Amino acid sequence: MRSDEATSHMSARPLLAIRGLDLDFGTPRGRVHALRNVSLDVPAGQVVGIVGESGSGKSTLVYTVMGLLPENAVVTTGSILFEGKDLLKMPVSARRSLLGDRLSMIFQDPMTALNPVRTIESQMIDIQHHEQGSRIEKRARALEMLHRVGIPDPQSRISAYPHQFSGGMRQRVCIAMALLVKPALLVADEPTTALDATLEVQIIHLLKDLQKEIGCSILFVSHHLGAVAELCDRVAVMYAGEVVEQGAVRDIFHNPAHPYTRALLECDPGRIKKSTRTLPTIPGEVPSLLGSKAGCIFRTRCHQAFDRCAHDNPVEYHIGVDQVARCHLLDEKRLFSV
Ligand code: ATP
Ligand code: SF4
Ligand code: MG
Repeated sequence: MRSDEATSHMSARPLLAIRGLDLDFGTPRGRVHALRNVSLDVPAGQVVGIVGESGSGKSTLVYTVMGLLPENAVVTTGSILFEGKDLLKMPVSARRSLLGDRLSMIFQDPMTALNPVRTIESQMIDIQHHEQGSRIEKRARALEMLHRVGIPDPQSRISAYPHQFSGGMRQRVCIAMALLVKPALLVADEPTTALDATLEVQIIHLLKDLQKEIGCSILFVSHHLGAVAELCDRVAVMYAGEVVEQGAVRDIFHNPAHPYTRALLECDPGRIKKSTRTLPTIPGEVPSLLGSKAGCIFRTRCHQAFDRCAHDNPVEYHIGVDQVARCHLLDEKRLFSV
């Protein structure tokens, strides 16, 4: 079964549905095809992880959802349905008003989100501009949220400036700010990569608790398979601008179908449980994203490549109820099993 057929069988509409998204960056060397035919669902109330090597398009994908792309980026085809409306067709003002309201973001570097010359208090009050209530009520909500994310003595810390917090505490402040608006979707691009391993575990647990409490969805980008296993319900594996496999975390991690996912996981079955914080390296190099490509994008590194892989780009094939992978081997299996 093709994934588009399968998706139409799903009953509940996902909160976020990305369909057939293609994105290029214009560069002096030509067009970099950074996203290729990307389709991805984020169901309401679920956490979806995105993993993949550096340069695979993870940040580009989530920045496209947030509408925070650089000027040389062009979406050539596709749609991003959020709560049923296509973000790519929305007027800029409508799209902007979703940010910090229905959609919020945590960045890898907390200073990206914080203004260094304003106190945490004024930033946390301002971010609630969509909310009802007086300044005093908003301050009280900010204090409550700072307490919730584990900032000691929020009463006195709220009047501090961002540089007066440690890196881990700054990231907690950013999580507090991102969740203060009770978004429907929280996008987090490697929020724990800059932190040490102990802090990472704390932040992941915190995110999980808050996500359950608020009932939001999270789109969580990470290099760390263990963090994804801990936090996420679903995972999408990206390679060279494509989502090569996606599905429930337990299916993908226990029964990976795409050779790239298998290569990532098979080096060490304990990896997901242990604390390796970098993605395993697999032999070979990611292909250049310049120019058009024929065939499977992974074929230069795939041990199972065969003739068809050189000229046909694989479509998505369903495995079981809810797992999708782009690999011709799945079509061959299907053909031989009928
Ligand atoms: P990392 O794990 O290192 O954060 P990533 O998966 O987030 O990597 P992206 O940053 O999305 O990858 O980059 C995807 C591709 O797009 C890369 O080849 C990158 O060089 C290219 N790219 C990203 N931003 C631009 C830009 N503004 N102009 C041109 N190319 C870009
Ligand atoms: Fe490997 Fe071919 Fe499958 Fe691509 S389509 S992952 S090259 S077997
Ligand atoms: Mg990135």
